[in-house]
Amino acid sequence: MLLCGCSRDTSVAARIPLTAHPVHVPARLGTHIPARSGDERITFQAKVDPDLKRIEVEVCPTGFRIERLNAPSPGAERWLDRGSVITPQGEYSCSGEGVDLPLTRVGDCLRYSVNLPESSTDPTSLRRVGSDALLSPDLWLWIPSPRPSGAPMGLKLTLPEGMFALLPFQDTLPESVFAWKAAGAFGHSPSTPLLVAGAELSVAALGDGFGARANAVRDWLSRGAREANLLFGHFPVPRALVITVPSERSGAGFGMALRGGGPAVVIFLDRHAEASNLNGDWTATHEFLHLGVPRLPLEDAWLFEGLATYYTEVVRARAGTISPKQAYQRLLDGFERGRRNGTGVSLRDESSQMHERRSFYRVYWAGAALAFLTDVEARRASGPTLDSALRSFAECCASSEEEWTAERVLAHLDQSLGAPRFTEHARRWLDRAEFPELDPTLRALGVAAGPRGEAIFGRAANAAVRDAIVAPAPASELTATSASPSKAHSEPHRRE
Ligand SMILES: [Zn+2]
Repeated sequence: MLLCGCSRDTSVAARIPLTAHPVHVPARLGTHIPARSGDERITFQAKVDPDLKRIEVEVCPTGFRIERLNAPSPGAERWLDRGSVITPQGEYSCSGEGVDLPLTRVGDCLRYSVNLPESSTDPTSLRRVGSDALLSPDLWLWIPSPRPSGAPMGLKLTLPEGMFALLPFQDTLPESVFAWKAAGAFGHSPSTPLLVAGAELSVAALGDGFGARANAVRDWLSRGAREANLLFGHFPVPRALVITVPSERSGAGFGMALRGGGPAVVIFLDRHAEASNLNGDWTATHEFLHLGVPRLPLEDAWLFEGLATYYTEVVRARAGTISPKQAYQRLLDGFERGRRNGTGVSLRDESSQMHERRSFYRVYWAGAALAFLTDVEARRASGPTLDSALRSFAECCASSEEEWTAERVLAHLDQSLGAPRFTEHARRWLDRAEFPELDPTLRALGVAAGPRGEAIFGRAANAAVRDAIVAPAPASELTATSASPSKAHSEPHRRE
């Protein structure tokens, strides 16, 4: 039950919707039709060439007819061989987002080939590493339309000798592979399981991997997963694909958490990274934290990035990776960067236009500020904490493949919190260009910026709240690993 909020802004806030725009269903999803017989299905067969230059695909419907094939991502038609799709009635050229196929009959198969480019400006789509490639299904898995609701979709891959498919799904395609960006790669080393506190991660490294540092990278991933577990109590999803991509970039890694086709994390990491550099690198922790919240649209980036950004510092302090004072200093530094890096529009608009405006710092850290304000407020009220709200939310919904919005996530969290705390902070700040006001809260906690990389803690009314947020986790929580591999574990795709 939601209790009445006490904010002075409530009457105004109540009129401002959290989600300004209706949820759009991307055109690439195509349409659905009701299943008639219940025996309808779709089979994809894909043959990958040894140089990863070409993938030939056949799509066969059973019990219905395919009327259109949609591009799986903007611009994917550029890589379509001959720019066309072949049906028993002839060849149809594709000029844009898809190809209409008016003459197909029930059960007619379609064929197309994708000539894969050498490189892509989008590193999440394609990155060649030696003879391997990070290669998202968004480049090669075209989307048939309509699809009978609930019809199973099978994938049969034919791979060259010695090649492995590294995909977040196995031989059945989940509908989410068409709805959201998916991770994927083809490589010459199989993924290996990494068991972390109730979850099984399938970890793969592309190219030559990390050589003598492979174990250090694995340890680092384990530690990141255990740190994320300190928030959720266990790893937020039962299984996830983790693709590590050795890169020439030095310094911290660069990662992304993707949901299309199943949960996956892709991390670009300095190929020469030593254990000592990895110690200070929070990328894995941050990406694993993302997996506790289902996929949200970009306009809600302030929420999914804000939560991951705030808790990245908090859980690393709880794990002892950084000290409590370092965690608060990093929060203070981040809030300051976020405050300085706005582009003069509301947080709502900074989020939906984050890539165009390059307003990453503002979005991440304003969102982190709202999470921080909510966390502190809940602890001061001595009621359920934001930790426990996120824990129960992850329990119910981390694996959800529904379309979520920030508004709906906040309603769940606030229900656990027993008051519309998060919703009110969001409503107060989402339509303003100013950074959320933090000074009174920081004063109440006795936190001030220090001169040398560590915050200064003073006496304050809520010092206990400050300390509780970053209190060391019990050793048992830090070392917990799963006792046995999940029964559902299946091997990576192998050559057929
Ligand atoms: Zn993030």
